[in-house]
Amino acid sequence: MTLTVETPSISAAVAERLARAPHVFLAGHAEAPLSGESRPVLDPATGRAIGTAACGGAADIDRAVAAATRAFDPASPWRTMTPLERGKVLHRIGDAILARADEFAELEVLDAGKVRGAARGIDVDFAARAFHYFAGWPTKIVGSTVPSSHPGIHIRTEKDPVGVVGAITAWNFPLLLCGWKLAPALASGCTVVLKPSEETPHSALWLAELAVEAGLPPGVLNVVPGLGGVAGQALVDHPDVDKITFTGSTAVGKRIARRAADQVKRVTLELGGKSANIIFADADLEAAVAGSAGGIFWHSGQTCSAPSRLFVHRSVHDEVVARLRAIADGLRPGHGLDADTELGPLVNAAQRERVEGHVRLAGEQGATVHMGPEVPRDGYFHPATVISDASDDMTCAREEIFGPVLTVLPFDDTDEVLRRADDSEYGLAAGVWTRNVNTAHRATKALRAGTVYVNGWGLTDPAAPFGGFRQSGYGRDLGPDSLEGYLETKSVWTFYG
Ligand code: NAD
Repeated sequence: MTLTVETPSISAAVAERLARAPHVFLAGHAEAPLSGESRPVLDPATGRAIGTAACGGAADIDRAVAAATRAFDPASPWRTMTPLERGKVLHRIGDAILARADEFAELEVLDAGKVRGAARGIDVDFAARAFHYFAGWPTKIVGSTVPSSHPGIHIRTEKDPVGVVGAITAWNFPLLLCGWKLAPALASGCTVVLKPSEETPHSALWLAELAVEAGLPPGVLNVVPGLGGVAGQALVDHPDVDKITFTGSTAVGKRIARRAADQVKRVTLELGGKSANIIFADADLEAAVAGSAGGIFWHSGQTCSAPSRLFVHRSVHDEVVARLRAIADGLRPGHGLDADTELGPLVNAAQRERVEGHVRLAGEQGATVHMGPEVPRDGYFHPATVISDASDDMTCAREEIFGPVLTVLPFDDTDEVLRRADDSEYGLAAGVWTRNVNTAHRATKALRAGTVYVNGWGLTDPAAPFGGFRQSGYGRDLGPDSLEGYLETKSVWTFYG
């Protein structure tokens, strides 16, 4: 295996986007940031710069919010557009994503260190699906007639868009999270200022341009790349932003919730996880091991719902650990644009250091650490790693590592494992592998997590709500439930008697 990584050749369209001068996207067009600041965007597989992105400041956020506020005026093209037309615009945005699916996938590989197949089949496809799914909703958002107890008074409810939405997203699914946040917000009739992660700003900027070409009125969607503590904070603090929808770490989510509380600002939080995955003795072991390994190792473990705590029945524990080690040993690291790559890099040097620290600590705390073969020295790779002989109180079993690191824990009894699986400050996802329908029902009822998988892992669907219990957040992305986060209920009283 080669331990150096070169950036393979890229398409002309992507090269052209990466060569653009740093910009924000405001009121329908790209312009230089008022801050005058920018930062290099690195290819995580090589550590080399692939472009330069704007670092918007408070003045840029101010202008973006002003554009979104104008676009939300009751007489604006967006507010006067019929629900049917709004749905058609969303549908065309979904089509526009698919029309450039290969280029978007390439961009996500270069920005976020993804592997091309997953970027194309999951990130890009699921982003488009979100727009296509929510395109059906504007015509179905309805109020109700209230059974009034007052003679001569008619009461009904309306569902109004919440207003200007500030969307702040993580680097691990840059385009996909645009779909998850923007599609329901736009379907509800809101306008948006999006601050993508500073690590991965390119796909959001391109999407905003395509959205305007698809018929979204200028100012409805504005994008300001920038640092979290600067642009992100300015968005959270802005008095004209009605709602913050955030995907990122639990630590930052808590900070945002505290600051937003000062203005009683609505907040949806999609945060971290330490998801429990349980293999019972009667499971189809081949499927369970493949699904569990796939769940933790794809995107090098940088998924919020990664099944990073694997509970295995003691009778099959050693066999499962052996199989998982063999999978870790067989994953081919490399650049995500190379066809045979199976293990991509971590997003940046800080993340690699964090993951290395966690693995070191697991060894120091007495666990057995099995690391896959050496990874390239270029970029920010980390070997696929299986930790066994661990206990529930070790750091590797409690904290989100966000790397290709799996902690395996044996169990003896169903009640015991369901209790232990739920002993976490998080509650994003959980999974069970069993052939026994009773065990499956018992477990899905008991586990306190926003998504519970049975004999599978990791799929999402635009119609299925996604979000967390406990410190994995509140509110939901996707599905009808997500619309509630972008709507206010208004009671309308008409005195006719
Ligand atoms: P992060 O919290 O560091 O950053 C997320 C976003 O918040 C970025 O855009 C960042 O610039 C911004 N930000 C940082 N500080 C801010 C501040 N003070 N005010 C406003 N914005 C600020 O998270 P990350 O490292 O980008 O992403 C990884 C985390 O995201 C993991 O914890 C992962 O579990 C979580 N995540 C959750 C979901 C979900 O749906 N629950 C999905 C993807 C990722």
